[in-house]
Amino acid sequence: MKLTTFPRVRITHGPTPLEFMPRLTEALGGPNLYIKRDDCTGLGTGGNKTRKLEFLMGEADALGADTIITQGATQSNHARQTVAIAAKMGMACDILLEDRTGFTSEAYKHSGNVFLDQLYGARVKEYPGGTDMNAAMEVRAAELRAQGRKPYIIPGGGSNALGALGYVVCALEMVDQFNHLGLDVHEVVHATGSAGTQAGLVAGLEGTRSGISVLGIGVRAAQAAQEQNVYNLAVKTADLLGVPGAVSRESVKANCDYVGAGYGLPTPGMVEAVTMLARLEGILLDPVYSGKGMAGLIDLCRKGHYQKGQNVVFVHTGGAVALYGYTDTFKDLTPL
Ligand SMILES: *Cc1c(COP(=O)(O)O)cnc(C)c1O
Repeated sequence: MKLTTFPRVRITHGPTPLEFMPRLTEALGGPNLYIKRDDCTGLGTGGNKTRKLEFLMGEADALGADTIITQGATQSNHARQTVAIAAKMGMACDILLEDRTGFTSEAYKHSGNVFLDQLYGARVKEYPGGTDMNAAMEVRAAELRAQGRKPYIIPGGGSNALGALGYVVCALEMVDQFNHLGLDVHEVVHATGSAGTQAGLVAGLEGTRSGISVLGIGVRAAQAAQEQNVYNLAVKTADLLGVPGAVSRESVKANCDYVGAGYGLPTPGMVEAVTMLARLEGILLDPVYSGKGMAGLIDLCRKGHYQKGQNVVFVHTGGAVALYGYTDTFKDLTPL
């Protein structure tokens, strides 16, 4: 497993902290709950896309790109982190945003990540839900090439095998932290969407035969499709890393019971999880990913899925900036 052969822009503030959550652990009365703070990766308020972008932007730079094109939902954390790194590297950035929720509030359309995309200097263009966003990126790339520019397309979520290497790095970093602390970790849990995070974690933890399992909590697709997407990408990632065959189908597990009505649509469990983490641990989750991921972990703890004394690590993938796009969802908050 040799990561040093890939061009890489070192921008992550790492290793990110691994913290115990004593009050959440006590409130749930189940396993010992830890949190890997990948909301603290540093770039443009942080998040999981930063680790992927280290490798993706490394390639873009090596190819001489001058413009980055990527896509996501209106409140995309990936888009915000991409335009931040493009700005830092002196590249232009085209952000294509798909309306996946139909929300029309001023906050959702213009605050949170959308505001930061504009602050970082992106050209932002909106597309209706259901648009073929990959085709739209190709159209934009052709326009730019015709103008003599050198565009580089980053897929939604930065999720291809190259981007997933960022989460192989995170897997190795966590194993090192666990060993340093003498922490016997049973499972790593996180929100899974475009699959790159889980694919990288599985490739890293299986490729090193760490004995630590990964559970993705889905935010969009149904379980069968989500697991297949993650598995396909994890296999490609292991191939790219030079450890073909490292990933078994059984090592890819997703629980998609916490999506609710659809991607980006609030659920009561998400609101509870975001509020609990804020009030018990002072940690800000996000409404689209880590809030639903944590809602899943909280529910599994309540159902006795884990044993008392087991150590479970939640990877906080960031996204709290999107809370500003969802203030309506939290309008009924009462003081403690
Ligand atoms: C993108 C994102 C995820 C999901 O990661 P994938 O690699 O797309 O599966 C989770 N949490 C946050 C906050 C994200 O922005």
